[in-house]
Amino acid sequence: MTGRILVVDAVPTNRIILRVKLSAAFYEVSQAASGRAALRMFRKARPDMVIVAADLPDMSGRALIEKLRTLAGDPRLPVVMMHDDGDPSERLVSLAAGADDVLSKPIDDLVMLARLRSLLRARDAEAELQLRDDTRRALGLAEQAGEFEAPALIRLVPTGKMPVAKSLQAELRHRMKDKIELTSPDEALRIGTTAPDVVVILEGDGAAGEGLSLLPQMRSNRALRHAALIYVAQPDQRQEAASALDMGANDLLGAGPDPEELALRLKKQISRKRINDRLRSNMQDGLRAAVCDPLTGLYNRRYALPHLNRLAERAATQGRDYALLLLDLDHFKAVNDTYGHAAGDAVLEELAKRLIDNLRAADLVARFGGEEFLVAMPDASRERAKTTAERLCQLMEKHPLTLPDGQKIQVTLSIGVAIGRAGRGEDPLQLIDGADKALYAAKHKGRNTVVMADTVRAFPTRPPERRKPAAPALAQTERTARSR
Ligand code: GH3
Ligand code: MG
Ligand code: MG
Repeated sequence: MTGRILVVDAVPTNRIILRVKLSAAFYEVSQAASGRAALRMFRKARPDMVIVAADLPDMSGRALIEKLRTLAGDPRLPVVMMHDDGDPSERLVSLAAGADDVLSKPIDDLVMLARLRSLLRARDAEAELQLRDDTRRALGLAEQAGEFEAPALIRLVPTGKMPVAKSLQAELRHRMKDKIELTSPDEALRIGTTAPDVVVILEGDGAAGEGLSLLPQMRSNRALRHAALIYVAQPDQRQEAASALDMGANDLLGAGPDPEELALRLKKQISRKRINDRLRSNMQDGLRAAVCDPLTGLYNRRYALPHLNRLAERAATQGRDYALLLLDLDHFKAVNDTYGHAAGDAVLEELAKRLIDNLRAADLVARFGGEEFLVAMPDASRERAKTTAERLCQLMEKHPLTLPDGQKIQVTLSIGVAIGRAGRGEDPLQLIDGADKALYAAKHKGRNTVVMADTVRAFPTRPPERRKPAAPALAQTERTARSR
């Protein structure tokens, strides 16, 4: 996973060591030696995450966190705090002050990289939910009324000795008003019980990682899909701790169940989950029918257009390019004419499914018109967009579709691709127009191919008949799905 990280530390060797480690893991790293320099660098580099030393020459690391989040306009900007030693009380103060995580020197690389990956993953998923919520508001759909916050349901799932878990339960009850239950692993996986907000998996003393194997099972359990999972490893389970975050845990305690730290992390996960639950239910409320295409279940044009505005705005603030792909089935009328309209519908449904299965969760897939689809890819370079489009063409060309009557047919796609350059501030409608012209050029080139909008020479007007013999090549030679 790539991302931009700003490292703030007054000690040059600390910065260098971190930069080397992070660059080796393919992060783009920028650095600052003081709080003020960090604020300047933040404006320039727009990082996805900040790693801050607890002590800086001109301000405390904690004060910097607040300033950075205000500057970013994002109270959830991931921030990791770095401490010189493992003074547990300092760690807790930093967590309470809003750090998402605390690293103590010497830093365990394996665990650190797993934590960074996990924080960035959470950030991406939340940004996507937020973006969809903004779009919902832009569509003029009503705000959901604020709700009374009921206590959260927390389930402790020990793999080791019960008495330890029992005393932890008592300690947590002192510190939180939420409901805290104790359950066995089997019980926790049973569907039908009330869905908890957070599940805490506790590895017992001398455990052999039984808890770790529970993580993927919980993640794939329908009732637990949206629950936050916290994994508590024993101090000697370094490898398990590093794996847990990539196996579905949202958070991690690496040195046994410290009640104070667990309470802090629980509060953070509960508040995160509440925000995400609310965003998710806003999305579902009445929205579906208004903005989804009933045949394919994809978003329709009504949803896609305002979403593109949001996407363009976000691309501009983050300084990242995005891509729009317009896809059109080749000779689709012939499919209807030969196999019937129901077969045509089945082709549209299958294409929609393949698009969803083969694109990132953050990519928007919409049915834009009859047999025309739009894919909007945030954070996508020209090269990436082109490769993706070629992959989609091949996906259709190489894998015939099965019609409801069992017949197999090959249906191909033509795709026009336009890139929204972050610094250029183009109207997304202009980009769609560019993608449309590129799509038209792709049809002229013989279909089943990809054309990039920036290779299409100026078009006088769009000729009314799309099937006339091709005009001279409209696109410079591009490597196409077809030519391979
Ligand atoms: P080209 O390669 O130039 O795109 O040729 P085409 O035949 O795909 O293009 P044309 O625009 O001539 O025809 C599009 C067809 O798509 C005509 C229309 O009947 C069909 N179509 C549009 N929406 C639906 C739908 O919801 N279901 C079915 N079965 N067909 C549809
Ligand atoms: Mg077509
Ligand atoms: Mg068409």
